[in-house]
Amino acid sequence: MADEPKETKPGFQNPVAGFSVTFKAMFKKRLTEQYPEQQKTTAPRFHGRHQLNRHPDGLEKCVGCELCAWACPADAIYVEGADNTDEERYSPGERYGRVYQINYARCILCGLCIEACPTRALTMTNEFELADSSRANLIYTKEQLLAGLEEGMVDSPHAIYPGMDEQDYYRGLVTEAAPGTERQAAGSKGEKPEEEGADA
Ligand code: SF4
Ligand code: SF4
Repeated sequence: MADEPKETKPGFQNPVAGFSVTFKAMFKKRLTEQYPEQQKTTAPRFHGRHQLNRHPDGLEKCVGCELCAWACPADAIYVEGADNTDEERYSPGERYGRVYQINYARCILCGLCIEACPTRALTMTNEFELADSSRANLIYTKEQLLAGLEEGMVDSPHAIYPGMDEQDYYRGLVTEAAPGTERQAAGSKGEKPEEEGADA
């Protein structure tokens, strides 16, 4: 049975009651975060900005297969593959990703693309500061997404490790660039024509 409404004295209002919420809040622990000066650490598997990974010698893992683009529910990825040549080799196998773009105006950071990638070329970092006032700036290019060079790596394009093949790379037999490896002239590496770009 519902409680009957309490009777109040006509014309009486408690002047302190209105401040009860204020007083309670004054003694609570502050939730304000001093962002961006103090940044909160994300969970280890937080889905942030993507990264295109390299093999230990610096060659790229992406083979330009477009599976990530097909898996994306937001149509946020644009990939254009091309053939490697002996004069200009970006990945150990036959193909590489010549053009790679992710449109962060569309991406919902769901991670389906990284699940679809057969070579673990595509993973996600913990970086979350992706906001921008320009839609064009939210389209990240291959150059922005490609992982930096670590010790023992030489930037692509360059020759495959002597005596190794693509399978050896995936077996983990190549652990660094071969001595004397030099970067080849990068003639075809670059942005795709604007009219073919991912929609902003
Ligand atoms: S995280 Fe999701 S929405 Fe973003 S590019 Fe990958 S599949 Fe598309
Ligand atoms: S990132 Fe992975 S799935 Fe996407 S094109 Fe490259 S190899 Fe294929």
